[in-house]
Amino acid sequence: MSHMDFPATSPELSVIIPVYNEEAGLAALFERLYPALDALGTSYEVIFINDGSRDKSAALLAQQFRVRPDTTRVILLNGNYGQHMAILAGFEHSRGEIVVTLDADLQNPPEEIGKLVAKMHEGYDYVGTIRQQRQDSLWRKKASRAMNRLRERITKIRMTDQGCMLRAYSRHIIDTINRCGEINTFIPALAYTFAQNPIEVDVAHEERFAGESKYSLYSLIRLNFDLVTGFSVVPLQWLSFIGVILSVGSAGLFLLLIRRFMFGAEVQGVFTLFAITFFMLGVIIFALGLLGEYIGRIYQQVRARPRYLVQTILEQRDGLPAAIEPLQEPAHQVAIVTREEDGR
Ligand code: UDP
Ligand code: MG
Repeated sequence: MSHMDFPATSPELSVIIPVYNEEAGLAALFERLYPALDALGTSYEVIFINDGSRDKSAALLAQQFRVRPDTTRVILLNGNYGQHMAILAGFEHSRGEIVVTLDADLQNPPEEIGKLVAKMHEGYDYVGTIRQQRQDSLWRKKASRAMNRLRERITKIRMTDQGCMLRAYSRHIIDTINRCGEINTFIPALAYTFAQNPIEVDVAHEERFAGESKYSLYSLIRLNFDLVTGFSVVPLQWLSFIGVILSVGSAGLFLLLIRRFMFGAEVQGVFTLFAITFFMLGVIIFALGLLGEYIGRIYQQVRARPRYLVQTILEQRDGLPAAIEPLQEPAHQVAIVTREEDGR
């Protein structure tokens, strides 16, 4: 599939950028990204994935493709599949030996890409990042620190700062991820599990250049579930432990029962009883929810539907016989390659 269709020489570097309703900041991104990449002096491709934006993002990306068709590829998804799925779509179409992911909102300075590439040349296959002076709201910072600790505890993934998307991966990691067919996942963590020689570097972090965070509270919570239940079954084992502890506790209640028959009714304990009952109900409902989380994952995975649908890919034609529609302006030696495909 995908990158095998292109016999043209692969670039050394692929930069993957998911875009969802980023019309306000894209021009500024282009302005900083391309000079930063040109300055590296290596061959590169920038792959933008439009994640079903409802604003002018797709048009702006198409326009940028016309400005830099040699180094730009645009994948237009037919709906909003979320940041991580968009990046997976980018991975499947990437060709570079080194693959760097980046947010479109300029929170990760494109000038830092060179630092990551240099580290990769030192022989690391995964370059993670630690944000210096993270520029996000206070509650986001606090919440992600708590999540970080929980993840450290229940998965084998060791990351100082899990949230930063500016990261570099080697081709072998990307190929492995492409073979996975994961549905709801957290890319830095998934990549980490396949890394043999990972390292972390400090990078600058800026405030969002324009627009607002595209994550609602709900999708943030979902994402964190993906991070935990997607990478570990430890929560399920905890459930059995909770069950064991509660059973042992109930032995104590049995002793109370014997006492009741020896001395008769001693205390009025209706409210305590209610409290205990509601607590137990809480535990049970939580357990059911957690089970449901895992079962839902299994269900989605066995259903094996296409994970995303590609509407159109804008890329320079290089000897591709597939359905090709020439662009309106014949002055440009550029073609829109339209291929319906799915990312299985
Ligand atoms: N994004 C996406 N699909 C979504 C949500 C976000 O492709 O459903 C992209 C978004 O355009 C940006 C990146 O993912 O390039 C990170 O999003 P955002 O900056 O809103 O997240 P935050 O920085 O608040 O974590
Ligand atoms: Mg952001």
